[in-house]
This record gives sequence, structure tokens and C-alpha cells, in this order.
Amino acid sequence: MDPERLRRRILDWYRAGARDLPWRRPPGSRAPVDPYRVWLSEVMLQQTTVVHATPYFHAFLARWPTVTALADAGDAEVMAAWAGLGYYARARNLLACARAVRDRHGGVFPDTEAALLGLPGVGPYTAAAVAAIAFDRPANVVDGNVERVMSRLFAVETPLPAARPELRALAAGLADPEAPADWAQALMDLGATVCRPRSPACSQCPAPGDCAAFASGDPGTWPRKSPRAARPARRGVVFVLRGARGIAVVRRPPRGLLGGMLGLPTTDWSEAGPGPEAIAGAAPARRNWRDAVAVEHVFTHFSLTLKVLAAEGEGEGVEWLADGAEGDLPSVFLKAVRRAQGMSGAG
Ligand code: SF4
Repeated sequence: MDPERLRRRILDWYRAGARDLPWRRPPGSRAPVDPYRVWLSEVMLQQTTVVHATPYFHAFLARWPTVTALADAGDAEVMAAWAGLGYYARARNLLACARAVRDRHGGVFPDTEAALLGLPGVGPYTAAAVAAIAFDRPANVVDGNVERVMSRLFAVETPLPAARPELRALAAGLADPEAPADWAQALMDLGATVCRPRSPACSQCPAPGDCAAFASGDPGTWPRKSPRAARPARRGVVFVLRGARGIAVVRRPPRGLLGGMLGLPTTDWSEAGPGPEAIAGAAPARRNWRDAVAVEHVFTHFSLTLKVLAAEGEGEGVEWLADGAEGDLPSVFLKAVRRAQGMSGAG
């Protein structure tokens, strides 16, 4: 492989057909780019797709056009705006970071990778991406897409996650110090649109002649992976109580899963599942609860089956979420509301 030729092919391919994304530096551009936009998009994109994240990105910018505006926002309104993007710990880190930029840096993002790394919730990937894309500084931007591309170009046999340091080193060796932003975005485009996880579109790739996995005839089998432990399964019961003021909700404890978010009243979620006493203790009212179809939801570290119990009336120790505002709930609870609605024919 000739690294110089490979780099040129990938950059030429990128500059001819780069994805037009609202947070990006256009190909070849040296004009300033707002680091707030780059940082916000990177935090959102760590857990979801471009298609899913884009409306959230626009909504956040419309509501909080600067990092200082976001820093000044209340926790609950940012958490509600984040609903649907998953992993609320990231939303809490988003706020902590915005406030650190406001309080420690006068509302201006620092422009080096090292200083960016000092911000709360900003890890090596995000620091490198913001340094490269917003400030056009040389940085080794390596996410899962780039790991996959490197593992294929070099046919790395070490399985993930052990291969990570090797893949980072390979990416560092290929990075273009003359065009950091273009190079970072070119690799992102290649990984996202062509060198896809299951079925790489090698016929559309600018680099099959330089790709060891392509030469093997079966590039989709890279990256090699260690066998994974199965996700543990947990079970619980959730209550959908509909009253005159809407749906009964509770504020979850600030720490832990979905911490600080509004949620439906629920039992603990455990592998054994709750017994009758735990179910009675978690119910927001004594009612004639009816069974709806259970909710299946997958979290990072476990899968969850939630039995949905529905009723109408008033409850104790709850707040009320107005009808139509269910979209503010984390998706696992939104699914439960929909199940209960389906049962009553209300939607
Ligand atoms: Fe990925 Fe195929 Fe291109 Fe190799 S030739 S980098 S496997 S798309």
C-alpha cells in the first residue's frame, strides 16, 4: 500500500461528493466554523444516526443558539429536549460542558485538543473531532467507523476491542496534517456511506486497490470481533395511570439509569423480576389495573421486559404530564404509554 496515494484517493473522493451536513466545514474550506455546532453534533451522533440527530440538532440551535445560551438553560428543559436521543448521562455532560465553557473559558470553546479534553464529558474522540473540524488542527479522529475502515484497509486480525490501540496507530499514520478537517470528515463519510458495517459497498469505494480486506474477497468479515457475552435480561412492571390532568409521572433519582428524567411509576428492574408486594408498593394508586402488551427495550448493559399495567383515576405521590406531552418521556416509557393507548383504542 502507498499511503500517499491512498490518502489522495480518499480525499479526492470526499471532495467530489461530501455529505452536506449542517454542522460541517465544507470540503476545502478554511473559513471559521462554530465549534459549538461541531461539539453539539458530535455528542448527539455518538449515540444515534445522522438522520435521527439532525432534527434535534436544529431544535437545539434554534432554542439555544450559543453555548452560553445552553449553559444558562435549566436542567429539566434540556433533559426534555434530549428525550429520544437516549443515554441521558450524555445530556447531563452536555450541560456540564456548556457551563464549563461559559464559566472557565468566557463562553468561548478552547481551540486545542488538549484543552478540549479538559472539559467535562469530552473524551478523546470528541476533543479530536472538534479540534480537527472546527479549528482545522491535526488530530487523530477515531470512532467506530474509522476503526472499521482501518481494520479493513490493513486486514487487522486482532479482534476488537483489543485491536483499538493498533487501529488508532494505523489511523494516525494515514492522517493528513495538511487538511485535518477534510481528512476527518472524509473518513467519517467513507465509514458511514461506503465501508458500512455489514455490507461494504466496495464498488463505490475510492480505495479497493489499497485495501487488504477487499483483496481477501470477504471484506465484510472485518473487523474481527471477540465473542460477546449475552446481555442479561431484566424484568419490571410499569404503571400508566391516566387522570383528568394527564398521565401520572415521577421524577427519577438524579443518579443512575435515566437519572433526573421524568418517568412512569415503576418497580425496580431486576433479573428475578418484582414480586406481588413490590408491584403493589410501586403502584401509584389502588386500582383495577389492566394488562397491556409488554414493552421490550434494550439498554447498553441489559435488555428489559416491562409489563404494562394501565388504569384511570387519581394517584398519590405523582406529577401529571399533560396529554400530548408524552414525547418528553424517555423512549422506554413512551412505548409503555403507547401500549396502554393501543389497549384503550386511544391511539
Ligand atoms: Fe471498505 Fe471495501 Fe473500501 Fe476496503 S474496499 S475500505 S472494505 S469499502
